[in-house]
Amino acid sequence: MARESAAARRSRAARIVERLARAYPAARCALHYETPFQLLVATVLSAQCTDKKVNEVTPALFRRFPSPRALAEAAPAEVEALVQPTGFFRQKAKSLQAMARDLVERFGGEVPARLDALVTLSGVGRKTANVVLGNAFGIPGLTVDTHMKRVNQRLRLTRHDDPEKIERDLIELLPERDWTDYSNRVIHHGRVCCEARRPQCERCCLRSECPWPTRRGAGAGSVRGAGSRRTGRRARRDGAEAAR
Ligand code: SF4
Repeated sequence: MARESAAARRSRAARIVERLARAYPAARCALHYETPFQLLVATVLSAQCTDKKVNEVTPALFRRFPSPRALAEAAPAEVEALVQPTGFFRQKAKSLQAMARDLVERFGGEVPARLDALVTLSGVGRKTANVVLGNAFGIPGLTVDTHMKRVNQRLRLTRHDDPEKIERDLIELLPERDWTDYSNRVIHHGRVCCEARRPQCERCCLRSECPWPTRRGAGAGSVRGAGSRRTGRRARRDGAEAAR
């Protein structure tokens, strides 16, 4: 891809936002929840686990522990048993209870609607905090998960690997009002089209705005993901392009 000015990249980002909105007008956070606390719990459980599996587990968990206080005071073994299907269940149960204790002791049992406060909770990083802010509170947030990372790298809207740096790049490119919808739509797009191992470039709504198919050739549908190892001349060329 020829060198792209900041203004041209911003225009391209705006077209990408429009195309995603047309393709996935109803894309939402796939986790089921009714309150900010429930979304916080579900998001913690979604680490290294599918949203579908989390959604199978959370109804019973929310029924048994409807509030931060109930979760904080629960017997650890009971929490572990309920979250066991989501994997890493001992650590997740521990994180959930520590987070619930933080909410009770420092926030009166309420989930704070501020990024700087949310990230002080045990087990809550920027990704989880932005999911909660954007979806439960309607406060714009960019959620940089594995799909956001891969798709934005392929779209050349970032050249970074670090989620915070990717977030900063996107903040520069996208109006704040688009952050939450953009995150949900890109995550959905990463699941149904721009998959890690087999991006479906031939049928992609972003194809005309994406440098990846050109860079990888016509057979882009069978290539490995953006994070795959590259060797030799191609890696040096890609590295030089990415540094521009
Ligand atoms: S054109 Fe291919 S690489 Fe680019 S966003 Fe679409 S599926 Fe992903």
